[in-house]
Amino acid sequence: MKALPAFRPALVPAPLSCIVLDGVCDLGRGYSVRNPPQFATAATALAGRFRKSGRPEGGDSAISIAFIEDVDIRHGEGYRLDASPDRIEIRASGAAGAFYAAQSIIQMELSGDGRIPCCRIEDAPRFSWRGFMLDTCRHFFRVEFILRMLDLAALHKLNRFHWHLTEDQAWRLDLVGHPELAGHGAFRLDRRFDVPVRMGGSYSVDDVRRVVSHAASLHITVIPEIETPGHAIALLASHPELACVRSGTAADVGSATDGIAADGIATDGIAATGFEPEDRYGIFEDVLCAGNDAVFDLLGDVYDEVIALFPGPWVHSGGDEVPKTRWLSCPRCLERMRKQGLVNPEGDPDPEALQGWFMGRVGQLLTGRGKRMIGWDELLEGEVGKDAVIMSWRGTCGGREAALAGHDVIMCPQTKACYLDHKHLDLPEEPGQLGVCTVRDSYMFEPEPAGLPAQARARILGGQANLWTELMYFGRQVEYMAFPRLCALSEVFWSPKESRDFEDFALRLENQHGRRLDILGVNRYRGPLY
Ligand SMILES: [Zn+2]
Repeated sequence: MKALPAFRPALVPAPLSCIVLDGVCDLGRGYSVRNPPQFATAATALAGRFRKSGRPEGGDSAISIAFIEDVDIRHGEGYRLDASPDRIEIRASGAAGAFYAAQSIIQMELSGDGRIPCCRIEDAPRFSWRGFMLDTCRHFFRVEFILRMLDLAALHKLNRFHWHLTEDQAWRLDLVGHPELAGHGAFRLDRRFDVPVRMGGSYSVDDVRRVVSHAASLHITVIPEIETPGHAIALLASHPELACVRSGTAADVGSATDGIAADGIATDGIAATGFEPEDRYGIFEDVLCAGNDAVFDLLGDVYDEVIALFPGPWVHSGGDEVPKTRWLSCPRCLERMRKQGLVNPEGDPDPEALQGWFMGRVGQLLTGRGKRMIGWDELLEGEVGKDAVIMSWRGTCGGREAALAGHDVIMCPQTKACYLDHKHLDLPEEPGQLGVCTVRDSYMFEPEPAGLPAQARARILGGQANLWTELMYFGRQVEYMAFPRLCALSEVFWSPKESRDFEDFALRLENQHGRRLDILGVNRYRGPLY
C-alpha cells in the first residue's frame, strides 16, 4: 500500500490533475461567495452545504470564494480550482463546470472539518454520460428518497438519472390524461402473507416536476423509461384489450373467460384475460400486442404527457426480454407480420423482426415528438433507426456492435461492472441477487471495448450503474447496494483511464471519502473491496 499524504483533497471521482500546495484554507473562519448569475447552481449548492455544516457566512476574516467565467476552460463540465489560505478561486466556462468545482469543495469541506488543503485542481470528465438507474417499480420509493439519491449522485459528478417507471409489477406514472394506468397499475398484492397486503404507490405530475426540477438544479438530466412491448403487465392491468388475443379454446385463456368466442376473441372486444400487476419476478409471456394499432395510440398519448414533464432529449422505451410466444399465436400479430413482410427466408412469420418493427414504430413516435429513443441492447436484433441510443446490458458485445453500426452507446453491462443488485461478496450473509460484483470489479470496468476504431469509440457516450430493486424493499437497502460501488463507477465514468488506480481509490475511500459518506448518513457497505 502507498503512503497517504496526511492532508490532500482525496476527491472521488479523482480529478484530471491536482497539485497539493502548502497551507490550509479554513472555512471555519467564515466564507463569502461571489458568482456571476449564470453560476447560481454552484453558489447555491455551496451555501446549502455550508449552512448544514454550520460554517459562518461573512465576517472580517471570511474566506472569499469567487466563481469566474473563463472561456479558456474548454470543457463545459470542466473547471480550475485554486485554493489558497484566504481565497478560493474557481474558473469555468459553463454552469456545470462551476457546479462540479463546488462539489469538489463540498467533498473537501466534509472530510476536512471545514479545512481544505491549499491546492490547484484542473478537472474535466472523460465521458458525457455518467448515469445511474433506479428501478422504482419492483419496489416504490418516496420522492424524498429519490431527491437524496440525486444529491449523492451529484456529489460524485454523475449527470444522468434513468428513472425506471413502468414494469410488470407497477405503472408508477400518474398521468392526467390516463389516470387508469396508475389507478390499476400502481399497487399490487404482496402475497407472502396469509392476508395479502396491498403495496406500491405512484408519482403524480407534481412529484415528477419536483424530481426533474431538483435534478436540473444539480445538472442531472432525467430520462424516463416506459417499458415496451414486454415488462408491461401493469399496463395491461388497466388495458387488457392491448394484450394479444390468444388462439385456442376458452380453457386456454387466462382467468376472465366470460364472453369469449370460439376463436378466443372476447365478444366485448377485450382480450379474454384479466391482468393485475405481477407479484412475481421474471420474464412473462404476456406483452403488448404488436398487431393492435390501439397500442401505439395509447403510447402516443403517454409520450405526449411524458415529453411535457421531462425536458431532456431522451426517452427510454425498454425493448428487453420480450418472449414471442403470444405473438406467434395471436391472429393480429400474425396478420401484422404477413402485411409488413416480416417473414424469415422460409416465408414463415418472424417474431424477432416484428419486435424490430415494433421498436421502430415506437422510435418514430418519439422522433415525431422531438425526442431520441434509448433502448436496451435487444434493439439491435431488429431494424431501428441509427438515431436510437443503445444501452449495452448483456455484457459489452451489444455496445461494441452498436457502436460499429453507428449507434450512440451507453455501457452498463451486468457482467461484474454496473449491476448494483449483485452481491458485494460471494457470501450467504450478503444481500443481493443473480451474481457477485465486488467494489474492485466495478472499479476495474472499462467502458470502451478494446480495439474499437476511433470513429466507433467516439460513439461510447459513457456508462451507467443500474439499481434493480427486486430485493431492495427500502431506501436504506438501496444505499447499501449502491455505495461504495457507485463511487467506484463515478471514477470510471469521470476520471482519465490512465490515472485510474484501485489502491489509491481504496485509500481515499477508507479515509476521507468514507468519512464524507458517514457524515451524510449513507448506509454503505463496509466489507472487503474484493
Ligand atoms: Zn398480438
